Amino acid sequence: MCRRASQADPLNPGDFLPLTNGKVTGAGLILIDMLSSTTRQTTDAGFRRRFHQRSLEHQRSLSAITMAFAVVAYLSFVATRSFVEGPAIGLQHRFACGLCLALLAMAMPRVKTTWVFGAISVAFTLMLQVGIGLNVIGLTSPLLWTLPAMVMVVMGAAPLWLTPTHFLIGTVVFYATGLPVMLDIHPTHDGAHLVCWMWIAISFSSAAVFHGCFYWFRRNHFLLEDRLVQLAATDPLTGLQNRRAFKEGAEKLLSTASDDAKFSAIFVDIDYFKSLNDRFGHALGDQMLHEVAQLLKAHTSVDNNVSRIGGEEFALLQRGGLRSAVGFAETLRIAISGIARPDGALTASFGVAEYRVGEGFMSLLDRADEALLRAKHSGRNRVCAERAVSADAARLKPLESPASDAHPGGESPCEPVRQPWDDHYLSSHFQPLYSLSHQKQVGFEALLRGERDDGSLIPPAILFAPKPFTSENDLDRVSHALHLANAARVIPGDAWVFLNILPASFVAEGYADQLADVARSVGLSPGRVVLELLESHGGSVDALSRAATQYREHGFLIAVDDFGAGHSNLDRLFQIRPDLVKLDGELIRATSPGAQQPILPKLVSLLHQAGMLVVVEGVETTDELILAVESNVDFAQGYLLGRPAATITPPEPVNRRIDHAFDVIAEGRTHQHALFESELHPYRLALDLAAQAYSGGVPLEDAFAPLATLELCISCFILDESGRQVGLEVNGMASMKAGDSLQPVANPRDARWDHRPYFRNAVLRPGVTVTSSPYLSLASGRPCIAVTIAVPTEHGRCVVGVELDWSLDRLPWPASD
Ligand code: GH3
Ligand code: MG
Ligand code: MG
Repeated sequence: MCRRASQADPLNPGDFLPLTNGKVTGAGLILIDMLSSTTRQTTDAGFRRRFHQRSLEHQRSLSAITMAFAVVAYLSFVATRSFVEGPAIGLQHRFACGLCLALLAMAMPRVKTTWVFGAISVAFTLMLQVGIGLNVIGLTSPLLWTLPAMVMVVMGAAPLWLTPTHFLIGTVVFYATGLPVMLDIHPTHDGAHLVCWMWIAISFSSAAVFHGCFYWFRRNHFLLEDRLVQLAATDPLTGLQNRRAFKEGAEKLLSTASDDAKFSAIFVDIDYFKSLNDRFGHALGDQMLHEVAQLLKAHTSVDNNVSRIGGEEFALLQRGGLRSAVGFAETLRIAISGIARPDGALTASFGVAEYRVGEGFMSLLDRADEALLRAKHSGRNRVCAERAVSADAARLKPLESPASDAHPGGESPCEPVRQPWDDHYLSSHFQPLYSLSHQKQVGFEALLRGERDDGSLIPPAILFAPKPFTSENDLDRVSHALHLANAARVIPGDAWVFLNILPASFVAEGYADQLADVARSVGLSPGRVVLELLESHGGSVDALSRAATQYREHGFLIAVDDFGAGHSNLDRLFQIRPDLVKLDGELIRATSPGAQQPILPKLVSLLHQAGMLVVVEGVETTDELILAVESNVDFAQGYLLGRPAATITPPEPVNRRIDHAFDVIAEGRTHQHALFESELHPYRLALDLAAQAYSGGVPLEDAFAPLATLELCISCFILDESGRQVGLEVNGMASMKAGDSLQPVANPRDARWDHRPYFRNAVLRPGVTVTSSPYLSLASGRPCIAVTIAVPTEHGRCVVGVELDWSLDRLPWPASD
């Protein structure tokens, strides 16, 4: 794997855009750093060693080929010598020399070190010299045979010299041994010395040029190759390894590591980096990336491999297990949060995973990435470790029996149990749900609490804060086992237990079976357990509805929690088809914008029609309880009825409260009815008179004139027997207030109203004034009430009616149906 020391890179200045407003940016600094290190590289010993080693790899085969040709040339020399008459050294000696040369040539491709390479090269040239000497003995003019061969050996040997040192040693040894031989061949010849010096002058200078050029060419080639390798492995902006180099290095490291060696991957992603770019420009973004890279470099050693693997994402591979990697990531997280950005501090999220023997590096990185995603989802600027995969963690287990659980001392089986978790305990609290009509506790919602050793409570923000080593789902599952065990101990016989469940747990493969097993193992039938799914907490609706079927098969009941909060979705509700819907407490307080009337009754009626029982949560005041009763809600829960507690509180005081609410409603209903009737009285009378006048033949406008002058009258109208409007409406006092927004439907001629209850009810009871429930007036866009009466006329029976503006706060509404 590339170390950081080798990440410096020789680049051209033109490869970058280092200047911004005359300042050298991070990339520019890296470039200067890289260029200066290039100069260093070519002179230092490390560079020479790497170059010579690489030359060895390149040159071994070329040298072997050169030596093979030399062996062939030598054998040709031996053969040619055989045609010359006169005494000669035995052929076997000369062939033995050829054999030595061939063996040296064959050894060359296997050479691993430069000094062995040099030794073989020197031995080969010496052996050639010996061979030439053996062949020329006995010739009349040996110099003629020797000289060309001796010149060629020196010049042709260029590929045999790997380094200048090899060249110098080889050349000195060659001349030192060759010169006496040359002089010895023809000691009496006058010009022998002269010939020898000429031999040395010509052959040495040619050989030096050959070797020098060859060496220079190889060195330049190596520099280029080295530069390309580094360019291909380095991220130009930060100078860190790029993804490919990191992956290759990591795979090599993991594949050569022993089975008991531990490695962990850390995935880093800068938070909200896009907004930094968008708001302050990419140059600043680049600067920040550079700073983060420098910080990662400064915190890592040769034991950590760090890389920018793309965009604003970095990865590290380090020796050590998950815990040490999480600790290290936490250190990095804190260090990064010390880098300032113009709108605050730079932060990053971290995912950590430990290597599992045999797995591929990319799968390790994927697990770290998955943990990173959780860190992002949990709010960023945090470290999350991969999820534990042990069968223990993935499987839901019933709690141990009370005697062996966290409470030492063998308490009674009815005492609640606690579950050790991190450095504290988990315990169950139960909040009662009351049936309003039955006035009794029908169920208890189990709520998780964290307790310290001394019994003090841990704030929910800490208890439910994402933890590096446990996921939300682990806590969810553990809480189910705990709640079921406690419910079996403290909840009265026939009451339901409401368990909150995360969609991810709800749809998890096999979880329905596990939960049913756990419930039965503690003596609870699944029919007593209501699973509360968060209404707006993600999860595919299809998956949830399929899972709901499995839970139902075991007998569990399903509730949708917090309906009405956030982005509630009726379609989702109708697909999951829960047995119960828990309405968010805010819905009790919600009123219609026009009339300040509660919308709860209509919603309850809608859910009842869809076959779902309705629970209202968050009941805190008597008024809210009264409204819940009045709205026909089935069950209610809230501080007014009981706070969550470890033990069950007696229901009697609450039952009395509910009873009282019923009394108040009954009284209120009578009072309300009287108020409503007295408010309507003048309108009934005026309508009666108008109807009599109209049926007596008085024109429409005249008949309605007195009624139209009354304060609440929006409009007066006549409908024929089929409910179709006769003539135009007569506008009343309240019509003045009507805005223009509903202009297209104002005063519709020939409109049909036979579907409206005020028409049908009037026709059913001819001659009697009937009153409708409040509805939204199409004529005014405000809540209104219609008063109608069916009377005979000369054209047949018709319905005479008036629409009254019922939007004023002071007006009493009729008691709900
Ligand atoms: P999150 O907290 O979820 O990670 O949000 P984010 O904005 O950091 O992540 P997102 O993936 O949406 O955006 C990453 C941005 O990083 C988008 C891209 O413009 C920016 N980016 C990628 N490479 C570079 C780079 O080399 N230089 C600069 N300046 N920006 C880069
Ligand atoms: Mg990203
Ligand atoms: Mg990001």
